[in-house]
Amino acid sequence: TTKTRFAPSPTGFLHVGGARTALYSWLQARANNGEFVLRIEDTDIERSTQAACDAILEGMNWLGLTWDEGPYYQTKRFDRYNEIIAQMLAKGTAYKCYCSRERIDALREAQAANGEAQKYDGCCRDLPARDTDEPFVVRFKNPIGGSVVFDDHVRGRIEFSNDALDDLIIARTDGVPTYNFCVVVDDWDMGITCVVRGEDHINNTPRQINILKALGAPIPEYAHVSMILGDDGAKLSKRHGAVSVMQYRDDGYLPEALLNYLVRLGWSHGDQEIFSLEEMKQYFKLGDINKAASAFNTDKLVWLNQHYIKSLAPEYVATHLQWHMDDQKIDLSNGPALAEVVTALAERAKTLKELAASSRYFYEDFADFDEAQAKKHLRGVALEPLQLVQQKLAALTEWTVEAIHQVIEDTATELDVGMGKVGMPLRVAVTGAGQSPGLDITLFLIGRSRSEQRISKAIE
Ligand code: GLU
Repeated sequence: TTKTRFAPSPTGFLHVGGARTALYSWLQARANNGEFVLRIEDTDIERSTQAACDAILEGMNWLGLTWDEGPYYQTKRFDRYNEIIAQMLAKGTAYKCYCSRERIDALREAQAANGEAQKYDGCCRDLPARDTDEPFVVRFKNPIGGSVVFDDHVRGRIEFSNDALDDLIIARTDGVPTYNFCVVVDDWDMGITCVVRGEDHINNTPRQINILKALGAPIPEYAHVSMILGDDGAKLSKRHGAVSVMQYRDDGYLPEALLNYLVRLGWSHGDQEIFSLEEMKQYFKLGDINKAASAFNTDKLVWLNQHYIKSLAPEYVATHLQWHMDDQKIDLSNGPALAEVVTALAERAKTLKELAASSRYFYEDFADFDEAQAKKHLRGVALEPLQLVQQKLAALTEWTVEAIHQVIEDTATELDVGMGKVGMPLRVAVTGAGQSPGLDITLFLIGRSRSEQRISKAIE
């Protein structure tokens, strides 16, 4: 069965490039009834932090990219790596190299001067075993001659000549195993059948395949995903705005919108733009990933976000809106249920952050009217419409959307004025501002006593 993994290095937050790779890898597992492994590649102890680990897990959780195994941590697997290194030394598929730093530097300089590729010359490759306490590194005995070929799902057939590959160091002088080696042992031990990762790893692949072969391990399939560019064509970076997945949460995006955005950023299924998770799982194929780099387009993300705010169940959207209400310190204890707010405001909101901000008047009295709106609709104008609305509302036996709607209509009819002459003063009176959803639902959600108080205050 298919088993894929996402293997981030915890040196920073989960960025959109990593999240897209994770999504593709996750989909490859989910689309094939397979399993998905999360592995934290934290062997670079200098640059790895716990905060970054937490941020990555938080991002994965927020996106809903659930894993079946892990998180594994490479730093907890050193014994296993060392065990394999000892086996390779015993078998002769790896060897101890005693070359000094000075010798290696001199070799590199000479090769550079001759215009040759810089590569270890194999000096220690066939040395008889030494009984010495001199420092050494362990190198992999890369095959001589021939080539490594693999069929990349995204990029097609890729071939590397073995002569271009070094005898890779798999353990440093201090005994610490190196990055490529750990990946190989992990992919093998974890039974990974398909590796989905960034194209920056293509050069590692032939080295990893050679080591896997030397271990007698099965060779997984590979898919190397292209990078994401900013709208200016440069590699996506902080300069382009938000790049951390959690920043998108903070900015008011739904995970569904970001996932849909990311899946389409470099993958397509006909000309369909909107994909539910179910559809993604149904249609996803690694072979349909685009080889060209993709450019990030915030407008499209906003469009998707609006779509999901409007079309997902309000009760569900409310669970995400809750975070923004807390963030904006809006106390929900005195006001409508959040799902009702979502229903009322979904049509006009680009983000949940905006939606939260524009729902404040449902929960709290506002301090001041929008000055321009108040000037236009409350001051120096005839207040009859508002007064009549006030009377009619006071006479209502039940506070329903329909009843409120009727009051507004009847007022306009009775005074023989347009709806705007009734609606605008009323809107400014109860919301403080010139924009809101329909007044019937708005008053309904603000509640009876609050609405009546606000109208009285506006008439004063
Ligand atoms: N840890 C690597 C990275 O974050 C991924 C390695 C891999 O997927 O093989 O780029």
